[in-house]
Amino acid sequence: MAEKKKPVGKAAPAAKPAPARKPAPAGTPAGRQSKAVAPRPKGGEVATPAPEGYRSLIEPRTGLAELFAPVGGFGVTLSNMFRKTVTEQYPSEKVPAKPRYHGRHQLNRYADGLEKCIGCELCAWACPADAIYVEGGDNTPDQQFSPGERYGRVYQINYLRCIFCGLCIEACPTRALTMTNEYELAGPTRAGMIWEKDDLLAPMREGMLTSPHPMVEGTTDTDYYRGEVTHATDAQRAWVAEHRPDDPTLPGGAGLDVANELAPTAAAMAATVAAATKQGTR
Ligand code: SF4
Repeated sequence: MAEKKKPVGKAAPAAKPAPARKPAPAGTPAGRQSKAVAPRPKGGEVATPAPEGYRSLIEPRTGLAELFAPVGGFGVTLSNMFRKTVTEQYPSEKVPAKPRYHGRHQLNRYADGLEKCIGCELCAWACPADAIYVEGGDNTPDQQFSPGERYGRVYQINYLRCIFCGLCIEACPTRALTMTNEYELAGPTRAGMIWEKDDLLAPMREGMLTSPHPMVEGTTDTDYYRGEVTHATDAQRAWVAEHRPDDPTLPGGAGLDVANELAPTAAAMAATVAAATKQGTR
């Protein structure tokens, strides 16, 4: 066996012997003898004098500073009385949130109206509050909701659980899920705080057709991800006209206002918020 090497250099100083304890006064139980108890102040004294050698780091006030010290706090009050007020008169005045504020979620669409969600459930797995529920489904030639094979068949967000951390939108591989700046979320029932896919889908814009409908001819899902699809084509319009002749997004249809009518849960929440706002502004 190799011999243990001795440390090279200065030898460590020998430990000092512990100071000898004073013998406990007669009648003190063993084990409590080491604590010296300071005598309690008597006759109305409330503070113990500073220990010997103590020097405060706060410089003592002198002259005018010492004279005005008792009313120094009022200076802060008076200087703030004439500053511009920062109180927001919510709900009568609604101040827009900052652009990157984490508000209500939105399920986005491609430029031709197909949904970006592919039902992968990554958002649900990323959610620390277990607020998201997703069930994926298969696209078929007659029911093509998103580019590629899969789409989000069921999509729910429980706003009683959501903590608006934004981890779900970081997890989404297709940028299907983002967060809006809407912060007024209220409802009279617990069930009314669970938003369904129809409540969360982004509004239709000019040039879009409501899903389902086929992908743009000759494209793949990769073309969609790369942003190469910029609007719905005539072939897609013809398909929708054949399968849903009363679709509001068709040329000559009822229009985007009808297409963008709020889904039941979102409409109920909007009514609740409007009533609460009215009550708050009285
Ligand atoms: S929103 Fe995004 S992460 Fe969630 S299921 Fe859809 S594609 Fe996947």
